[in-house]
Amino acid sequence: MTTVVMLTEDHPNGVLVDASKPLINIEDQGLTRGDGVFETMLAANRTVRKLDMHLSRLTNSARMLDLPAPNQNALTQAIELGLKEAAEGPQTVLGSEEHVVKIIISRGTAEEGAHSWITVAPAPQSTLEQRTNGVKALTLPRGHDPAEEGSYPWLLTGAKTLSYALNMAVLRYAKKQGADDVIFVTDDRRILEGATSSVIVARVNNGVKTLLTPEPNHGILPGTTQGAIFKAAQKNGWALGFGPLYPQDLYEADGVWLTSSVRLLAPVTHLNGNPLRHNEEFTAELLDYLAQG
Ligand code: PLP
Repeated sequence: MTTVVMLTEDHPNGVLVDASKPLINIEDQGLTRGDGVFETMLAANRTVRKLDMHLSRLTNSARMLDLPAPNQNALTQAIELGLKEAAEGPQTVLGSEEHVVKIIISRGTAEEGAHSWITVAPAPQSTLEQRTNGVKALTLPRGHDPAEEGSYPWLLTGAKTLSYALNMAVLRYAKKQGADDVIFVTDDRRILEGATSSVIVARVNNGVKTLLTPEPNHGILPGTTQGAIFKAAQKNGWALGFGPLYPQDLYEADGVWLTSSVRLLAPVTHLNGNPLRHNEEFTAELLDYLAQG
């Protein structure tokens, strides 16, 4: 079901390869050390949404890991090739077929060096269902404050690296506790981000609608979905807020969502077992901003 396009010396703009065949060297450092970077994107109607934002974040991540700068033009062509060949994706709220498109850049082997590939697969139903069903989330400690790591470039704060074992481990932990997802907090309980998502909050005060999120470059991954929602919301009269948020702000909010490229936005229905206010109108409105984008 997954379509794979490899960018090779002979085919710098990508060539379709057989995903059932061995494609990765057993000593590839992306595989053995999680040494590489990636982007996960949503394609609706076989067009990747906010491709420029993803390519720009990928370039930034690659720079932070001293990987060669990605050839954005070649990647765009490789994605087009993959999307043309991909199996049919589900029809969804966006009113079009949806696919998950990934770009992976791996350190490769010492002999062959870094290399990239694209995968395209129909969007999984379970992820899409979270847009309407929402998620039960737990706040869990990140163990340190990533905002304090900015002066240590080897900690790769803000890069989207292949080292996602921690992000997957915390999701398994949450599921064992009966929750669906996680919101990381610092030791002083400041909200950071989800395991694979950004956190956004709606607050209505004296008729003024405000969207808030933790400062995007403050030790967390700057979310392209959060960025796109905020841009459209501002045009539609919402005030925007960036800055410290604490669990109490989420309990008192008029809506809390986890946002990410494929899931778009999932209302957080419960936080640490407590029901949160869920405003279906806001969910529809914010989803509409993404559908238009
Ligand atoms: N934060 C983390 C840790 C993520 O892994 C992701 C997406 O995978 C996001 C935020 C949301 O990013 P985007 O909206 O660009 O998908």
